[in-house]
Amino acid sequence: MEAGRGHGGGGAKRRGRPGDDKMPFRRRMQRRKICRFCAERIPIDYKDVRLLGNFITERGKLIPSRITGNCARHQRELTTAAKRARNVALLPFSSSTV
Ligand SMILES: [Zn+2]
Repeated sequence: MEAGRGHGGGGAKRRGRPGDDKMPFRRRMQRRKICRFCAERIPIDYKDVRLLGNFITERGKLIPSRITGNCARHQRELTTAAKRARNVALLPFSSSTV
């Protein structure tokens, strides 16, 4: 007598196991940005105010790499460049006029 198969099975159906299917996390990615300096191989020059201006707000603050999409390395270089530019008065430390 082989009564291996029970009928019904107790109803322990497990389907949607949590953590089973990995959700591809999308966090409001607005176009994948890449580091401009890496992509175009632009040398970061503190004398290049135009270039620096792209990464600095009107108030003279540096735009975080999260927004600009710069890689850590270049963001760092950019920060240094901005500081130098400020020292030689190419960039404002902060503009008082809003
Ligand atoms: Zn880079």
